[in-house]
Amino acid sequence: MNTLEQLNFDNTFARLPAPFHSRLKPTPLAKPYLVSFNANAARLIDLASDESSRQDFAECFAGNRLLQGSEPLSMLYAGHQFGHYVQQLGDGRAMLLGEIRNSVGEYWDLQLKGAGPTPYSRSGDGRAVLRSSIREYLCSEAMHGLGIPTTRALCIVGSDDEVYRESIETAAVVTRMAQSHVRFGSFEVFYHRGQKEHLATLADYVIARNFPHLVDVQEKYAEFLREVLVRTAQLMAKWQAVGFSHGVMNTDNMSILGLTFDYGPFGFMEAFDPGYICNHSDHGGRYAYDQQPQIGLWNLTALAQALTPLLPVAEAEKILDEYGDIYSEHYVELMSGKLGLTYAGLEDFALVEPLLEMMRVSELDYTNTFRKLAGFKSAPGELNSALRDQFINRAAFDEWAAAYRARLQAETVTDAERKARMDRVNPKYILRNYLAQTAISKAEKERDFSEVDRLLQLLGRPYDEQPEMESYAAPAPDWARSIEVSCSS
Ligand code: AMP
Ligand code: MG
Repeated sequence: MNTLEQLNFDNTFARLPAPFHSRLKPTPLAKPYLVSFNANAARLIDLASDESSRQDFAECFAGNRLLQGSEPLSMLYAGHQFGHYVQQLGDGRAMLLGEIRNSVGEYWDLQLKGAGPTPYSRSGDGRAVLRSSIREYLCSEAMHGLGIPTTRALCIVGSDDEVYRESIETAAVVTRMAQSHVRFGSFEVFYHRGQKEHLATLADYVIARNFPHLVDVQEKYAEFLREVLVRTAQLMAKWQAVGFSHGVMNTDNMSILGLTFDYGPFGFMEAFDPGYICNHSDHGGRYAYDQQPQIGLWNLTALAQALTPLLPVAEAEKILDEYGDIYSEHYVELMSGKLGLTYAGLEDFALVEPLLEMMRVSELDYTNTFRKLAGFKSAPGELNSALRDQFINRAAFDEWAAAYRARLQAETVTDAERKARMDRVNPKYILRNYLAQTAISKAEKERDFSEVDRLLQLLGRPYDEQPEMESYAAPAPDWARSIEVSCSS
């Protein structure tokens, strides 16, 4: 394990041609302090966790002091925002410090988010507030705990410097980590500018860096598109299965690695509602929960178009046509798993849909209902009253339970074995908005960050019972029902 000085930087993105990025320096924050440190992420870059107690640790991750070997830059990209192409976006407040090559040869980008203005800031101030930094930090680690591909987060550093949003808040910097921060929009910008050379350079770079098995493949660009499509389709299925809404699925927020990327007004659904819109600013519901799978395809179509100078259009279209089946197959597999079935058949969907519909009508908590379902007793004559009483329409439940019981007969496992299996895929703990809000309020009002750390620990093991944390599994209390999250961050 290394000290900060020993981090093994090897900055490949900085070696790309000038139009790809802008070199710059972070703008210092006044008297930065450490809000939270994530030892699990530190291990990925071989950073010794006791380094976090160094006096200058906060200075380094506020961007006030440059880490030896880092070469800060902001990345260029464009993107479709709410369906409309925006010619130039780019990291308006994020800076890639560089890439760390760890002891097993993996590359990890270290990126400061909220480190001050960049040439791509447009009218923004280059800052991020403590509130949104805590949300990103906790949610990315919660997603990782759930086994869903995501960017990671190393630490949050705060400052009393003021930031103006709907009200005055304070600044923070979250250090984000990913094996690449390249987005769909990173390709779109060169396509729409007609810069085929840069497009090919970027594709070759990403393939060499993140898809090395494709380097010598003849149809490497088509295969690259196919792999991004598979990852994205599977990511969408994972989001749906866990009840996660991203909130701002613009193409500049779509990771080329199929990671959950750029946490803004995201939300985990509580009462099941397919039309759930987590982003208060998304009036049309473009990014509503039930729209996500098709938006995934829409975004991939924008990416495929951007890659057309590198591969035949017909080939791109053929690949896009594969999306529906890949998505459905993975979704059915995940939902069958949530029902505790050991093998997935498309016919099992006949069990999933009516269950979801009953949950919608009864406004049941999506996470907790699946968790409770693990206790379902399959013996004939069992009423499963505790579960049954949750549903408004008991007759509908009984009918569904009979079908479920019949389907379970085809399995060979005991109820106890099934419960153990279900508890490994139906989380007990998710990052409910009110839990995040409680941690944020304590941090903002009392400079008490203990709740951030508590949630980080809790959500790292979302499938474990953790009896002393039982209350954290409860749906939002009344005071929290009105929490609204918007793009403001
Ligand atoms: P987002 O909605 O966070 O994905 O951001 C969309 C675009 O706006 C990206 O180019 C961001 O870098 C930029 N942006 C967001 N907030 C700020 C800010 N406070 N200052 C500068 N740029 C920002
Ligand atoms: Mg973004």
